[in-house]
Amino acid sequence: MEQLVDVIIVGGGPAGLNAALVLGRARKKVLVIDEELPRNRVTKESHGFLTRDGVTPATFRHIAREQISVYPSVQFVKDTVIRATGQDRDFEMTTIQGNTYRGKKILFATGMKDRPLAIAGLQEVYGKSAFVCPYCDGWELRDQPLALIVSGGMALHLAKTISGWTDQFTICTHGTEDWSEEEKEELEQRHISIVTSPIQQIQSDTGMVKQIVFEDGTSLSCTGIFFAPELEAGSEVPQMLGCELADTGMVIVDEFGKTNIAGVYSAGDSASRKYQVVAAASMGSMAAISINSELLEKAWKSKVML
Ligand SMILES: Cc1cc2nc3c(=O)[nH]c(=O)nc-3n(C[C@H](O)[C@H](O)[C@H](O)COP(=O)(O)OP(=O)(O)OC[C@H]3O[C@@H](n4cnc5c(N)ncnc54)[C@H](O)[C@@H]3O)c2cc1C
Repeated sequence: MEQLVDVIIVGGGPAGLNAALVLGRARKKVLVIDEELPRNRVTKESHGFLTRDGVTPATFRHIAREQISVYPSVQFVKDTVIRATGQDRDFEMTTIQGNTYRGKKILFATGMKDRPLAIAGLQEVYGKSAFVCPYCDGWELRDQPLALIVSGGMALHLAKTISGWTDQFTICTHGTEDWSEEEKEELEQRHISIVTSPIQQIQSDTGMVKQIVFEDGTSLSCTGIFFAPELEAGSEVPQMLGCELADTGMVIVDEFGKTNIAGVYSAGDSASRKYQVVAAASMGSMAAISINSELLEKAWKSKVML
């Protein structure tokens, strides 16, 4: 049986890594268990994090781990947690490789996962010329002809947002027409092109989209795509411990990342819909401070001489 560490962090993305940094500096014994499959691994560059704008997600993690390595109480293992049991001050995590690890506190920083992409050709361009977030990748596609694969109220939202980067875009609903009359009118008033035919295929060359071919025989030339992905929780393990989830699969937490289960925290994409590296890192930091306070409080109380 493994030794009891102060904190097990499940997930080594920006949220888990920032938590590990803060807890390492607070001299806590930390184990980070990470299967190393972050959602943004498809993309070449990550943007919008001050001092790290444009680095690859792998470089971001590499620099983070290098900086954390200064703090000897933080250890990393590459593995997947598949089961969790226990309660505050003694949790047990079982991994796919058959190992068990014990921790006083748990931080789930397990992110979100994309559901399989149902449109032919989308996987080939995802992260190269098809993206999900204009704040992450809009600059690179500024003033270019784009397709927005989205429908309903989300289409209106994405159209409004993308209009800050380009005015050449077409909404492709992929056969779904689930917007209200008001939403449709708002788009029509701005002469925004809408293609409602289902997409037959996205044609591309080495990851760069060339055109979208529709089932009605028409096609649309464009150099980039934004689409609304379908997401699911990065891990089912928080639920095993009884963590309350929102309909989106996100773990419900307070402002410090505390779940409804004592001693269990969650941070980053697994516990918010902000979906930004800087936001995930910030949540990891806040959760780490709160976890450390709980550990200190307990230790402080136990120091009273009777
Ligand atoms: C294509 C794309 C491009 C993006 N570009 C940007 C950008 O430019 N700028 C930006 O700010 N944001 C960007 N994002 C969003 C950003 O990637 C996320 O907000 C951020 O990575 C969330 O960090 P996280 O630590 O919460 O989760 P993640 O980075 O997803 O890390 C979660 C980690 O937990 C691990 N894990 C999950 N379950 C288990 C388990 N059971 N056991 C062990 N390990 C587990 C995963 O393998 C993964 O390593 C992009 C997202 C996508 C999809």
